Amino acid sequence: MTTAAVLHPASLPLPDFAQLTLDTLKADVQQALSQATALLAKAEQTAPTDAARLIAELDLAENQLQQVWGVLSNLNATRNTPELRELYNQLLPELSRYYTEQGQNQHLYQHYLSLHDAADFAGRSAAEQSAITLALRDFRLSGVALEGDAKQRFASISERLSQLSSQFSDHLLDATQAFVMPLEDAQLSGLPASSVALLRQLGQQRGLEGAAATLDAPAYMAIQTYAEDRALRETLYRAYVTRASELGEPAQDNSHLMAEILQLRQEKAALLGFANYADLSLASKMADDVEQVIQFLQDLAAQARQPALDDLAQLQAEAATLGYDQLQPWDSAYLSEKIKQSEYNLSQESLKPYFPAPVVIDGLFKIAERLYGIQIQQKATSVWHEQVSYYEILEQNRVIGGFYFDLYARSDKRGGAWMSGYRSRVTRSDGEQAPVAFMVGNFAPPVGDQPAQLTHQELITLFHEFGHGLHHLLTEVGVLSVAGIHGVAWDAVELPSQFMEFWTWEPEALALISQHVDTAEVLPKDQLDALMSARFFQSGLQTLRQVEFALFDLEIHRANPALDAYGVQASIDAVRAQVAVSTPPDYNRFQHGFSHIFAGGYAAGYYSYKWAEVLASDAFDRFEQEGIFNTDTGKAFRQQILAVGGSRPAQDSFAAFRGRAPSITALLRHNGWSAQPTATAVQANPAGTTA
Ligand code: ZN
Repeated sequence: MTTAAVLHPASLPLPDFAQLTLDTLKADVQQALSQATALLAKAEQTAPTDAARLIAELDLAENQLQQVWGVLSNLNATRNTPELRELYNQLLPELSRYYTEQGQNQHLYQHYLSLHDAADFAGRSAAEQSAITLALRDFRLSGVALEGDAKQRFASISERLSQLSSQFSDHLLDATQAFVMPLEDAQLSGLPASSVALLRQLGQQRGLEGAAATLDAPAYMAIQTYAEDRALRETLYRAYVTRASELGEPAQDNSHLMAEILQLRQEKAALLGFANYADLSLASKMADDVEQVIQFLQDLAAQARQPALDDLAQLQAEAATLGYDQLQPWDSAYLSEKIKQSEYNLSQESLKPYFPAPVVIDGLFKIAERLYGIQIQQKATSVWHEQVSYYEILEQNRVIGGFYFDLYARSDKRGGAWMSGYRSRVTRSDGEQAPVAFMVGNFAPPVGDQPAQLTHQELITLFHEFGHGLHHLLTEVGVLSVAGIHGVAWDAVELPSQFMEFWTWEPEALALISQHVDTAEVLPKDQLDALMSARFFQSGLQTLRQVEFALFDLEIHRANPALDAYGVQASIDAVRAQVAVSTPPDYNRFQHGFSHIFAGGYAAGYYSYKWAEVLASDAFDRFEQEGIFNTDTGKAFRQQILAVGGSRPAQDSFAAFRGRAPSITALLRHNGWSAQPTATAVQANPAGTTA
């Protein structure tokens, strides 16, 4: 990315990453923790008439805690070193202990109850009412009603679970990092020049003479997509899908962690009176109950089945033309690319030069600016890596938020892509605190002095995370616990993100986000047509895969007694037998790297992606009808969905935007199945009676 332009300094107060040390990070977290803990201790002596003041003070303390923890947590995820990891894992139990104490504090609970039952409750803002109501729910889900041993046990379970999740991530990162395979020139056959350059750069970074294969997403995907050497693809596949399992390094094996996590989650649910953890998880979501979600997923699987069988047949036919005995998982990406080229005239490699990262980022900002009437400007500030950039959002010349982009894969960064709200919008007595977010990806890094060139898939991911970012940043709620994505039902949280992805399929938007790296030409008509014609390519297989993971996630969190690693394997096998159209090899240990549910917030909630896709598709349908750059529609989306955060239930926000309950029709059309007759009728309204 060019840095020729002189940037103005950031307007918002930001951490000085250059000055941070392990000692300052530790001191900041401990100070914030002790401040919040001291306030918590005051709850008992506080008179009911002072409840509101105490809660406001506690909000400020937790606001501070979230920020200092946010910095440490971001560094732990993006610049992981043994020292930082040790500090993070050392402080994690203290953090967990604080939140458990808070969630189980009877006095604080009584203060919230008194606010809720007070005569002036109805006179409070929607955000304040919602914050109080959700807090009461969360007290119950944190075991505020427990006593004696049960209360103790609940607290130690919570603390242990936070450690186990962190270890799960550490094992996965270590297992990913540990794999480096030097490559002979002959093994690079089939790989485009940009991928060869990437693998050579990786080899160089690992101190090797020539190219190297690693399990970082860009390197792994390049080999799976292009390497003619079938044995190489198989070797990499096997290494990838056995990461952090009993088939790899024992020190990185997640088997026992998964078993303990499931067992403790089950015990936690039982302490709260739930039949299983899935029921506990659903207690704070938009969906009514597990049965409703399973029905939704099974209906979706029924819709996707025939398209998936067709997708599979197409891959098998391609495998046969190459003389392969049988289609294998390590052939799928390779054959898919061949089919895209032969059937759709689409080459991912020839698209990439049209999507240089600076152009894409600029175009993404233009789209957001047009839709929401904001301006986005890059600003100078200290960052945690030279690849990181920082931007501010302005509205009528006022800075309303800021965000960091850390987009490229590095060996010290966790895999995947995510948005984390480091600082939330908060209305304080001394003014408005503007929100700030971290947006992180693992895209193929720039090679040499060329800017990074994105694949269309990476484009989608960038837009996805930016959608989460806008949800966090464009909130107009100033109450911490319901600002931005806080307090939003988790199965609706993927609405703004998946909604944003649709712009990567719109010619008018693509004109803004494409410009050839050498010729400056916008994506030409033939390339655009090719991209569009392949849009629904393998949507059947992709849907079934997501349904499979979602059902598996629910099943293992319903099992009682809790499953061990063998039980988990048996469970995913059973789900595959039910919905999948092909099964991976016996050694596949996908579940050992399933961070979303074992280390993230998606436990018994992975279905959220599909659930919210209904909402996102249906929301975008209104833009298709009214114009994808219709500023009134953009304004309505901003006001009814992005601005409101958790200040009202997600189904109400959706209804306010669409004027009705969600319908699955748009999702089917956006998968290319609108004309697909199926045996099973799909529920017209996945939100059931709630919307
Ligand atoms: Zn997301």
